[in-house]
Amino acid sequence: MFDLHIHSIYSDGTANVDEIARKAKETGMKVIAIVDHSVEHRLGMDEGKAKQRQAEIEEAMDRYDIKILSGIECGILPDGEIQLPNFEFDLVIASIHDFLSVDEYYHRIERCLEKFGDIVDVLGHLHSERFGSAGRDFVRDVEIIDLLLETDIAIEINTTHMAPPLDFLEMCSGKPIKYSVGSDAHTLEKVGDVKWGFEIARRYLRKGEPIVKI
Ligand SMILES: [Zn+2]
Ligand SMILES: [Zn+2]
Repeated sequence: MFDLHIHSIYSDGTANVDEIARKAKETGMKVIAIVDHSVEHRLGMDEGKAKQRQAEIEEAMDRYDIKILSGIECGILPDGEIQLPNFEFDLVIASIHDFLSVDEYYHRIERCLEKFGDIVDVLGHLHSERFGSAGRDFVRDVEIIDLLLETDIAIEINTTHMAPPLDFLEMCSGKPIKYSVGSDAHTLEKVGDVKWGFEIARRYLRKGEPIVKI
């Protein structure tokens, strides 16, 4: 299994890179991604922090014999904008971190996928109850699925937010949609807590494939 959504002390997580790598190894993860928040977050990661974290990631990979991707989670801002520091990341997740009107929620995601299809790898915690919208528009859900397929961006199954909802995944079943699974851990205890996500992927995304081969 893999856990491709873990926050460290380089943004708002409480564990350092070494602790995360050790815990991930203990929980049987083959690959993890440490994805700290980007610069739009008050504790976000700038270029300097990204470089410093990279050195720690390389050390931890040697020490624990586990693959660690150097990632970032960008908030999806008005008109779908994202902000990225000047650094070559292995994995870019884009997620909404606001509670929005239905129209604004879909507008931001659609614009982000259209504009950044070649930069973003994963759409994070879609329709999370915390960072979501007051309702759903099922026609625009289908549009999101089409955009994901067109841009080759993966949908994330996020085990903290329990997102996306199962009816959205049901709409994805039968489509060759890529997927990622992540715990969204902000503490050490949560690292590698991805079992539910893989069960759901097996049930609904049989035609899809995981973003990382394990
Ligand atoms: Zn998030
Ligand atoms: Zn996150």
